[in-house]
Formats: sequence, structure tokens, C-alpha cells
Amino acid sequence: MVETRDCPRPAAGQVRLAVRACGVCHTDLHVAEGDLPPRRPTVVPGHQIVADVDALGDGADPALAGARVGVTWLAWACGTCPACQRGEENLCPRARFTGYDTDGGFADAAVADAGFVIPLPRDLAAEAAAPLLCAGVIGYRALRVAGLGPGERLGLYGFGASAHLAIQVARHWGCEVGVVTRGAAHRRLAEALGAAWVGEPGARPPEAFDRAVVFAPSGAVVVEALRSVRPGGVVAINAVTMDAIPAMPYEVLYGERTLRSVSHLTRADARTFLALAVEIGVRAEVEVFDLAEVNEALRRLKRRELRAAAVLRP
Ligand SMILES: [Zn+2]
Ligand SMILES: [Zn+2]
Repeated sequence: MVETRDCPRPAAGQVRLAVRACGVCHTDLHVAEGDLPPRRPTVVPGHQIVADVDALGDGADPALAGARVGVTWLAWACGTCPACQRGEENLCPRARFTGYDTDGGFADAAVADAGFVIPLPRDLAAEAAAPLLCAGVIGYRALRVAGLGPGERLGLYGFGASAHLAIQVARHWGCEVGVVTRGAAHRRLAEALGAAWVGEPGARPPEAFDRAVVFAPSGAVVVEALRSVRPGGVVAINAVTMDAIPAMPYEVLYGERTLRSVSHLTRADARTFLALAVEIGVRAEVEVFDLAEVNEALRRLKRRELRAAAVLRP
């Protein structure tokens, strides 16, 4: 539902954002459709916000006045719990999430905690930067969780918004990348972005991967990925929800293979990835919609009719 509201005022410690662009992510669809249990009666989705700070709440860093910033899924973490103390604020049990616990960026204005906005270079085009803030950062975290090192062989299972950004980082690190995905258009994009090998689900890579990241929310694909990594290899699952992982013979995991999940992101991930993205010129394929077309963008995401990451422009 699209509605008109008063412009939000920043509370103490917050900044107000003039939204320039906001990416549309599968999680937004889950919020809009109630697949994620609602945490408040109404909420504005959107957690890949590129904005200019146009007002400061009390105590917000004055250096943020007028700054171009990004807002990610992580709206706030407590900073004091054991997870936060370990530097794993993505696992903070009190964490709040943008566009879920707080109103997000499917709007022309929003507020955000000043300590959780990520400074962005001004010359980064807003529409192109938006998908970097969730799809990009989390894809990057997945490569880190998988332990990917320079020159290693990487398998990507599924090739949507996140994987098409992750492959650019992996190629920059000199990795040989194989991509397994259902869509022919996605396989073509993977080849255009430097994949050494592409295959349909069920295909085995010519040589075992050192690391693999599973983006497809399918337990069967997890087993397929495990079968395609070498002994000592790692499979990281970058999915919020997934159907059951089927029973498998122990030999699939034996040989010190590791299976891990990826749980969204930290501010450090966002800062590191965005700096890298600017340095090496990570490019997001985007399809831009006017804010008023938000429901159309969500519908097309749901029907898998988007050819690239959807971005809303107010
Ligand atoms: Zn997201
Ligand atoms: Zn915490």
C-alpha cells in the first residue's frame, strides 16, 4: 500500500535521510508478504538505501551533515553482548533490522541511527550503489565465510543479485569461478562476468572446487555443492530460508569438508566491501523503477521476471 506520511524527524543519535535510491531484495518481499513474522503493525520495507543526510538529531556526528551514506539491513546492534564484543554484531540477539524493525527506504525520506550509516563516495551513482548494500555486502561476507583465498577455485550455486557481484570480487582475487544455475540468462551473465565454467543443476565441475557458496534456497543444492568441493573444502550457505537438507551419506562431508551458513552482515563487512567495490569497479546490473511502481517491482521479483537487481528511485 502506498501512502503519504509526514516527513520523519530524527531523534537523538539519528540522522534524517533524503533517499536517492533503494534496492529491492527478496527479504523485502518476505516482509511485504508476511513470510517473516511482522514485528510491528505497519512498516516501510527497504534496506539498501542510498541517501543524503539532510538533518541531524541531537548528538549525531556533525561530519555526517550533507554526507552521501548507505543504510544496510543492520539498523542497530547493542554493542555490549558477547556477540557484539566478539565483533559479530550480525549475531547480536538484540539487533534491529532496517525495513523490518524500523521504517526503511521504500520512501523519499527515512531516519537511521547515525552510528550505523555507511559513508559512500559521492561519485558513486545512487542506483548502481543500492544493490551493493545488501546483495553485494552479504555476497562478500559469504566469500569470507567460505574462506576464499586468492587463486582458489570457487563454485557459485545460483546466480542472482548477490552472486553476480560476488563473482566480480572473486575474479579480482584471481579465482577461477564455476557457476551452477538453472536460468540460461544467468549462465550467459556468469560467462560474461568471467566464469570459467557454467553448468545446469546436477552438473559436476571438471575439477573440484576449493570453496562454494550456495545462493539457491534448496537443500538438495547444498548436498550437490558438498559433493563438488575437495577434501578440506568449505560450503557456505547464503540464504535466509531453505527447504530441508536431504539426508546424505557421511562420505559427502567426510574429508574435513565444512558446511556453514552466512547470517547477513556487520558494519565492517559493509565498509570493507564498499571500499573494494569502488576500487575495483564492481558493477551491479540494475533495473530502475519509480517509487510509485514498488508493487510492480515486488511482483516481478516474486515471479522471477527481473533481469537484474530492482532499484527504486523516489
Ligand atoms: Zn537484503
Ligand atoms: Zn549485541
